[in-house]
Amino acid sequence: MESARIHITGIVQGVGFRPYVYGLASRHSLNGFCLNDSEGVVIEVQGGSIGPFLDELEKSPPPLARIDSIRIERLENGTEYEDFTIRESRIVPGKSVLVSPDMAVCPDCLREMLDPADRRHLYPFINCTNCGPRYSIVLDIPYDRPNTTMAGFRMCPECEHEYHDPANRRFHAQPNACPACGPSAWMHGNEGIKNYAAIEEAGKLLKEGAVVAVKGLGGFHLACDAMDPIAVSTLRERKRRSNKPFALMVPDLDSAKLICEVSPEEGYALLDRTRPIVLLRKKALSGIDEAAAPGNSRFGVMLPYTPLHHLLLRASALKALVMTSGNLSEEPIVISNREALDKLSKLADSFLLHDRDIYAGGRFDCRSSGKRMA
Ligand SMILES: [Zn+2]
Ligand SMILES: [Zn+2]
Repeated sequence: MESARIHITGIVQGVGFRPYVYGLASRHSLNGFCLNDSEGVVIEVQGGSIGPFLDELEKSPPPLARIDSIRIERLENGTEYEDFTIRESRIVPGKSVLVSPDMAVCPDCLREMLDPADRRHLYPFINCTNCGPRYSIVLDIPYDRPNTTMAGFRMCPECEHEYHDPANRRFHAQPNACPACGPSAWMHGNEGIKNYAAIEEAGKLLKEGAVVAVKGLGGFHLACDAMDPIAVSTLRERKRRSNKPFALMVPDLDSAKLICEVSPEEGYALLDRTRPIVLLRKKALSGIDEAAAPGNSRFGVMLPYTPLHHLLLRASALKALVMTSGNLSEEPIVISNREALDKLSKLADSFLLHDRDIYAGGRFDCRSSGKRMA
């Protein structure tokens, strides 16, 4: 019988690391436990042979993880375990850990979201172990639901079941939610209508040329139809952003190709899991209003990264939205509903809000790398 304790640091919280270790240990018939602590992940394993488990752990960690260090202690006369479990997180005062950046909705969740038979059909807060909000909802470490802005949403029995089922792709997904128990979206002033019905209303207003403030993952965007000259110049006037280009959001890669030249490398960049804004060369007859990026040969383009953004593009059926950040030039980014209603009322005609609070992510640009929480 061999046994070892393993300490791992890096981006290992909020990336499905514990469920992954659970699966790996079962495959290698090992007992023990794993948990998040204030530095990363701690694992104890014991069984006939732990070498192959360690090899696989190092060589193929879960796709969103980044291992910075692994420390292995061989244990003599370790405790005997009867199974493998995920244990309560452990807090070590004064330590810090890297929290995963927010991740674009994954293909599996997108498929479910568009399936009329699925219980999360058209639900704007669908997520799983491989996608969804992370950094923008973390209040404290370790990354566990009570330490996120999801703490106030009590999972319904179905969500709870998924969360505890090792075979489910939402096993230990901290922001797990559904229309019955999770956050919802609404148009300000019309709180009775929720989620996709509210997003449809926002889509209709965008089509009519309105500027809509949209609460996203890490803050607010001001959105309008990028092909509507009046809407775009209205937004530009209101924002008092003389010539700075506005970022654009298009439904998918093919739509980006309709308005811009997209090289294979630029295509990859657009599809990166953090969905960055990529500067692309304008096409001559793009249809995008010149005022979106006056005198500029390029557009800053991004693909939708949250389910809500996907649904907004679907509901509006627009080919491209201006999506510019909702802060006034030098002021800090607007993150709460009340602040947004206060500060953006002169800029936006209406507000698409939701009740999943934005925390740390709203204060930093966190979409490109792991951030250290102390
Ligand atoms: Zn997913
Ligand atoms: Zn639920």
